Parts: sequence; structure tokens; C-alpha cells
Amino acid sequence: MANNQYDLIVIGGGPAGYSAAIRAAQLGANAAVIEKEKFGGTCMHAGCIPTKYLCETLHLIRRIKKSASYGIFSDIKIANFAEIQKQKEKTIYMLNAGLIKLIQSYPIEMINGSAVFKDKNTLEVTENDGNALELSSKRIIIAAGSSPRSLPGLEIDHEKILDSTDILNAKKMPKSLLIVGGGAIGVEFATIAAGFGSSVLLVEKEGQLLPGEDKELAEEVKKSLQRQGIKVQVGQGSINGYMQKYESILVAVGRKPNVSSLNLEKANIKYSEKGIDVNTHFETSQNGIYAAGDVTGNGFYAYTAQAEGVLAAENAMGKKSTSDCPPVPRVVFSHPTIASVGAGEHFRASNTVTTGYFPFAANGKAAVLGERSGWVKIVANKETGRILAGQIIGLDAENMISIIAIAIKHKLTVNDLSREMFFHPSVAETIHGACEDVLKKCIDLPRK
Ligand SMILES: Cc1cc2nc3c(=O)[nH]c(=O)nc-3n(C[C@H](O)[C@H](O)[C@H](O)COP(=O)(O)OP(=O)(O)OC[C@H]3O[C@@H](n4cnc5c(N)ncnc54)[C@H](O)[C@@H]3O)c2cc1C
Repeated sequence: MANNQYDLIVIGGGPAGYSAAIRAAQLGANAAVIEKEKFGGTCMHAGCIPTKYLCETLHLIRRIKKSASYGIFSDIKIANFAEIQKQKEKTIYMLNAGLIKLIQSYPIEMINGSAVFKDKNTLEVTENDGNALELSSKRIIIAAGSSPRSLPGLEIDHEKILDSTDILNAKKMPKSLLIVGGGAIGVEFATIAAGFGSSVLLVEKEGQLLPGEDKELAEEVKKSLQRQGIKVQVGQGSINGYMQKYESILVAVGRKPNVSSLNLEKANIKYSEKGIDVNTHFETSQNGIYAAGDVTGNGFYAYTAQAEGVLAAENAMGKKSTSDCPPVPRVVFSHPTIASVGAGEHFRASNTVTTGYFPFAANGKAAVLGERSGWVKIVANKETGRILAGQIIGLDAENMISIIAIAIKHKLTVNDLSREMFFHPSVAETIHGACEDVLKKCIDLPRK
């Protein structure tokens, strides 16, 4: 564009940013999206996709090791970690190429460079080839994402003290790994590192893993990590005694919104180290400037980032869209995978709720797949049977949790779901069974 003026400009090409640019273009905007590293953001290059690729590799190895129980007898040779990493990079390369084509299918200008505010309608961009640009627009969406947080005294040096991106790019797994932080990322990396042969100690300063998550679930995760040979210490504030004993230390204590290098002051945008302030329309304190995704500090998930990017773009283009706060499913790729949805207080025993369980051990498809551990738990209102929360430990948890989330959002009851047709044999029948169990009339469980 000759005069560098756009209807809308997005800073950041991760899930929030590229989704915002596409929705704006769908609504007729002549849009630009600026990305300083790689389109796809943390999710594609240092988060969701690489971690899930490695989890899936481990899952596949476990399944192949079980092949004898299907009458398949074969010796397997597992490539070294560097080779597995190469295969992972191929998948990311393919996804990245697909994303670039997707964005290019719209009239969106893609700019490789780093943006800072000059004033509320102007961005100074240093392109990756060193060229300087000035771009202007009345509508700007900030989707600059987040970065790994470090701890005082445990600054990430990318040699011994690592962040999650360092491990995801490593050519070999350290022989021993101390993981500081027992949240979702710490638990996931403990599973991955131990699966690829590292001796792992996971340390969490709070009294349980996955702080904020239901205690029962956190306890199950701890047991499953211990079964994999991972040492777990909770309620452990200091790691001084362990630092020298481990080849590498992974700091997994959360993410910090990328707010400090955007010159937000020049556009009078309110923010703190917790993120950029936004209202329910994702508009910042400055008219016409919106923010979405990790940079707001609200979610730290790719799917919430994408949803926020879409809403921010719609609002920037004159609509009045708000998120109607659906319950956000949470998933941790431990082994087995755990998933949870609904507010924490619903999981705690109270006079107003009732629960039902269904074990995978009683599910036909789980038996066929040879994955019989874990359960589905449904929490419902005692009086009305309305579904309030759910948890899954085991097979396909990341897919099935959305069924429970949709049931919560649409105010369905356990009676509603127990009258639905779930395909047989399918893993999702466990949700049906757990709803029947709430009603104390589960056909597939023995009489209590
Ligand atoms: C190890 C790990 C595993 C994860 N696993 C999952 C998972 O399984 N599921 C899930 O939902 N979430 C997961 N997440 C979280 C998920 O990756 C993020 O929530 C998501 O990527 C946020 O999207 P975003 O668009 O807000 O930010 P990002 O994806 O971080 O994208 C922001 C982009 O903005 C660019 N940028 C920043 N500043 C500028 C600037 N000044 N100029 C131009 N460009 C700029 C950055 O280079 C970046 O590409 C994981 C995260 C990590 C670290």
C-alpha cells in the first residue's frame, strides 16, 4: 500500500493476531498484520503444536510397545531425539506454510518486522531486512503475545537454566532435568522429558500440582507422574539443594504478557505487568485500539486468544461483540491426559452438588484401544441436575471435554445427556455413563 494507511493493523501474527486480521478482512477491511518472528506465534512454534507432537510421539511409542497384545510382534527401533525433532519441525513447517497461504487468501498485507507505537494511530515498524516503515490506521489490534517468565535468582541463561522454548529446540534431552513450577507447562514437560529418558524432579512451591485446579485431579496427576518415575515435590519453596545435581533446570513458572517493548505510553494505553487493560469489547483505554490474546493476561490459551482476536476485530469494525463467557476447558497433556471444565468451587464437596463417575475400564472402545485407566466425572446441581463441571482423566480427554463444556454453556442437565444417543463403541459413551451415574441409574455400572 503506497501511503501505508490501512483500515486496521494487527501487531502479532499468533492465534489472536492472524484471526483478528482474517475476521477484519472478512468484514471488508484493508488490513495489515505485522509479525516480528514467525506467523503462527508461540502456539505453532514454541507451544501447543511442538509439545503435542512430542506427546503424540510418546503415545505412539507406548502403543507400539503394546502391539503384542494385538498379535503384532515386531522389534521397534526408536530414532534419537534429534531425528524426532526434525520430524516435528517438518510438521510445523507444513502448518506454517498452510497458515501463510490462508492469510494470503485474504486481502491482508503481511509484514515481517517489529512494531512500536509512535502515537495512537501510527506504528513505527523495523522490517526484518532493516528497512524502516511508518504505518497508520484508526484501528489497531495489539496481539503481541507473551514470553516465558523467569524467577529472581534463576534467570534463564539458555545453557543450564532453560525456558520451554529451549527444551523444544534441544537436539538431545538432558540426562537429568529439574523442573521448577508444577503448572500445566511444568507437568507437560515432566511427562515429555521423562518419556524421552530424562531423570526428572518436578518442584512446585504451592501445596499441590496444577495450583488452582481441583485437588482430586491434581493428586491423580501427581500419582501418574510418579508411576512414570518422575520425582515430585510440592510445597517446596527452595531448590538450592538440587541445582548442582541436575544437568539442566527448566523454569516453568508461567508467562508474562509482552507489554514492555511496544511503547504503549506513546498511545496512552493503560497496562501493567499483568497485561494490557481491556473492556468487555477488548478495547483498551485508548479509543480504536484493541488488544487480544496472551498480551491481555487473561487466558494464556491459543483457543481463547483466537476467540478474543475475532471479537476484537469485529468490534474494531463497528460491531458490538462480547464474549458470553463460555466455560473454558483446561487440558494438561500428562500421561494420561487430564481435562477439566467448570468453576473450581463446583468440584469441592458441597450440599448443593452431586457427582457421577464412569471409569474407562467399563468402556468397550477403551478396551479395544487398550487404554483402560482413568475416569470421567460429572458435577451437577443436586436439585435440578444441571451440569456444572466435569473432569476427565484418560483417553481422548482433550476432545471429550468440549462436550461437557457445551452442555454447561447450554444449561443441559444430566437427564438431557443421559437421553442423548452416543455412538457405540465410542469413548464418549463414558460421559453418558457418568451422567447416568449422577442419577444413580447407570446401566453399565454394577448396582451400588
Ligand atoms: C510450552 C507451551 C505449550 C502450550 N500448549 C498449549 C496448548 O496445548 N493449548 C493451548 O491452547 N495453548 C497452549 N499454550 C499457550 C498458547 O501457545 C498461547 O496462549 C497462544 O500462542 C497465545 O496466542 P497470542 O496470539 O496471544 O500470542 P502468541 O502466539 O505469542 O503470538 C504473538 C506474536 O506476536 C509477535 N510479536 C510480539 N511483539 C511484536 C511486535 N512488537 N511487532 C511484531 N510482532 C510482535 C510475536 O513474535 C508472536 O509471534 C502453550 C504455551 C506454551 C509456552
